[in-house]
Amino acid sequence: METKPQTDFVRARRMHERGRYDEATIHAVLDAAPVCHVGHLIDGRPVVIPTFHWRDGDVVYWHGSAASRMLRANARGEEVCLTATLLDGFVLARSGFHHSVNYRAAMCFGVPRLVTDTAEKLGALKGFMERLFPGRWDGLRPITAQELKATSVLALTISEASAKLRDAPPGDDPGDETWPIWGGVLPVHLAAGAPQPDRYATADQLPPATPFT
Ligand SMILES: Cc1cc2nc3c(=O)[nH]c(=O)nc-3n(C[C@H](O)[C@H](O)[C@H](O)COP(=O)(O)OP(=O)(O)OC[C@H]3O[C@@H](n4cnc5c(N)ncnc54)[C@H](O)[C@@H]3O)c2cc1C
Repeated sequence: METKPQTDFVRARRMHERGRYDEATIHAVLDAAPVCHVGHLIDGRPVVIPTFHWRDGDVVYWHGSAASRMLRANARGEEVCLTATLLDGFVLARSGFHHSVNYRAAMCFGVPRLVTDTAEKLGALKGFMERLFPGRWDGLRPITAQELKATSVLALTISEASAKLRDAPPGDDPGDETWPIWGGVLPVHLAAGAPQPDRYATADQLPPATPFT
């Protein structure tokens, strides 16, 4: 997989050995995280909004109401910073100082564009649904022209990106390993609860599975 030029701006400083700059790693983090945060400026003020995202090749998409301040701001041709984070585990050391977390995170930079081509927009929205619930799109009541108009889709071709990963046991100071307290990793996972059918769902209609749990 192609490796992005590792610009100085995206070079990890602290714990730099955890930094990754190859597309495969960055894409894998984006794909594994259900939700991202989009950072942008509104009247010169930083705003970071949680939103769903999905990816096709080197393009990351997100969507929302055409009236959304975020979506309108993101379509203005200004750079955004899109981050995706997965908490994989709490890392408990024998000292407070060396407690840590196992995680996967990606930060992507670039100037998004508003998707105006109808076919691309429809394909992107299908990609969004299929990422969350594979196979669900084709069974849905088809989207109307009004719904499509009321929905904006942003596309970000990643121009610079980094990932940062930790997947390791605690790193106690020499001599602390036998301190009389538990050390190790408490793994953390996203888990689906029991489905809650609404009053119209019939017994023969099964809830979909999602790859995120
Ligand atoms: C897990 C998750 C997934 C989401 N997915 C989507 C999505 O796919 N598409 C989508 O359009 N929206 C999504 N949202 C909602 C999104 O975070 C915004 O609330 C929404 O986009 C409204 O944006 P806006 O432009 O109207 O808000 P703005 O007008 O930009 O916000 C105005 C102010 O409202 C407050 N505000 C806005 N959103 C939030 C928030 N989430 N939490 C706390 N304060 C807030 C802030 O103070 C902000 O400055 C998601 C939220 C969550 C938590």
